[in-house]
Amino acid sequence: MEDNKSQGTEPETGKTPEKRNFIREIIDEDLKSGKYETVHTRFPPEPNGYLHIGHAKSICLNFGTAKDYKGVCNLRFDDTNPTKEDIEYVESIQENIRWLGFDWDNRLYYASDYFEKLYEYAIILIRKGKAYVDDLNAEEIRHHRGTLTEPGKDSPYRNRTVEENLDLFERMRKGEFPDGSKTLRAKVDMSSPNINMRDPVMYRILHATHHRTADKWCIYPMYDWAHGQSDSMEGITHSICTLEFEDHRPLYNWFVEQLGIFHPRQIEFARLNLTYTVMSKRRLLQLVQENLVGGWDDPRMPTISGLRRRGYTPESIRLFADRIGVSKADSVIDVSVLEDCLRSDLNKRAQRVMAVLHPLKLVIENYPDRQVEELEAVNNPEDESMGTRKIPFSKVLYIEREDFMENPPKKYFRLSPGAEVRLRYAYIIKCTGVVKDPKMGEIVELHCTYDPETKSGSPASQRKVKGTIHWVSAQHAVDAEARVYDRLFNVPDPGGDNWKESLNPSSLEVVKGCKVEPGLAAAKAQDRFQFERLGYYCVDNDSKPGNLVFNRTVTLRDTWAKINKG
Ligand code: ATP
Ligand code: MG
Repeated sequence: MEDNKSQGTEPETGKTPEKRNFIREIIDEDLKSGKYETVHTRFPPEPNGYLHIGHAKSICLNFGTAKDYKGVCNLRFDDTNPTKEDIEYVESIQENIRWLGFDWDNRLYYASDYFEKLYEYAIILIRKGKAYVDDLNAEEIRHHRGTLTEPGKDSPYRNRTVEENLDLFERMRKGEFPDGSKTLRAKVDMSSPNINMRDPVMYRILHATHHRTADKWCIYPMYDWAHGQSDSMEGITHSICTLEFEDHRPLYNWFVEQLGIFHPRQIEFARLNLTYTVMSKRRLLQLVQENLVGGWDDPRMPTISGLRRRGYTPESIRLFADRIGVSKADSVIDVSVLEDCLRSDLNKRAQRVMAVLHPLKLVIENYPDRQVEELEAVNNPEDESMGTRKIPFSKVLYIEREDFMENPPKKYFRLSPGAEVRLRYAYIIKCTGVVKDPKMGEIVELHCTYDPETKSGSPASQRKVKGTIHWVSAQHAVDAEARVYDRLFNVPDPGGDNWKESLNPSSLEVVKGCKVEPGLAAAKAQDRFQFERLGYYCVDNDSKPGNLVFNRTVTLRDTWAKINKG
């Protein structure tokens, strides 16, 4: 555990440091200088996939910063790519943001709401001689663009007259030209050292049905044209985006200056990368489409829907965002930091229960046959207000198969022939015999005696015994299935073209025939527990009364760190 100290956490106090960061410094300056009077941010997802933990960082940053400054944050769908987008994504994104604990009130926008306005803006640029219709195809445009060391070449159509451009652009909109045959380009500077400034394409022709505007449009704005103007129209003061847009900033500035419209300030930060995780939406889509996982909400996915089904809490994800902070330099965060945030949240709030994943029958020979005792168990030693519950104890129990060894090595503190252990919340027992399957030789039953003087809480129960194990009463236990998840990839950096080769073949183990304490029969989807000694578990969405299914959310400790240390 010592080695897993979360980054950005004060080692002594475990507290998250105050949320100072370079973005807040810029905002403070802007408010002080009067550049802006309020803070207005936005979260601008493209609805072409489910949100992942990287998006969560951006959501916490945009909504969180606005909130702390008593400003507001918009949700805006950047829906300029009709062929890749879908209403299913629009819905899941809204649901996930709400679940994370943020709200956009009535400020839900779509770039597609601005198509008409963007078209008008484009006409303004054409009129100013700052945009032109080009007949070069995509391939030729690429060719003319030059390289980092060579300037670009002007398109032969660059000097069309304003009238000709207005006419052609209108006819592009009317659908007179086939896909890819023409574009509208900004007329900036073909020899700029910044390639983004070399007459970027503003519109392309695409006869495609849009999930919101249907067939109204057959020209669609490029992201670089739509994004900055959308920010401006919404009065966004601080447009926070990831580092790859740093080189696009001069273009965004150029557009708003040419148009003479409200000028947001763009601030870039480093995107989140996590070890043992792929984060690209394209790859996540591939995992789903190729059935390498059960869907976008597979509990092994780094999507918000997946983390949620896995048993993550919104609080743990927000804590994670706070702990990692924001920076200007790309880095990779160890996934154990995320898991640690989850543990520290669940430790405070998850009810402790007893569950046996691999049951071994145990008979207490000197316990009265029909007797049942209701023993008191603590729900959460971290939080007295969570109270206690009664659990039934009887002659026949199940214990974890792993908690018994016939020929134990030294320092094995669990049960073995002749040895004593404490049964959690119950009595001290001693193993007196082993019953084996006559054919297979497998141990099928243990025989024990209990010491009636050692009931939990009594003075005699204080007697020193090395081990304490968990158990459930056989006649009262409820059957359950446990889905024991592990990391989806077994290397820290599953990048490169062969990324699928590092999929962890044992990322899911389905354990049927588990036995859990009777109180769990009524557990509902998403309820979270700590199975004592085993890990944190939550009830899966597939779970039904009579057919309980639990997901392992996270282990009690970082077992990977131990393995890696050898
Ligand atoms: P793509 O460009 O492949 O569609 P994207 O990651 O840019 O993927 P968007 O839907 O455009 O996806 O992302 C919405 C917002 O989330 C953007 O503002 C982006 O900066 C932010 N974001 C995306 N991925 C991360 C990440 N890994 N870390 C932090 N922020 C991210
Ligand atoms: Mg994007």
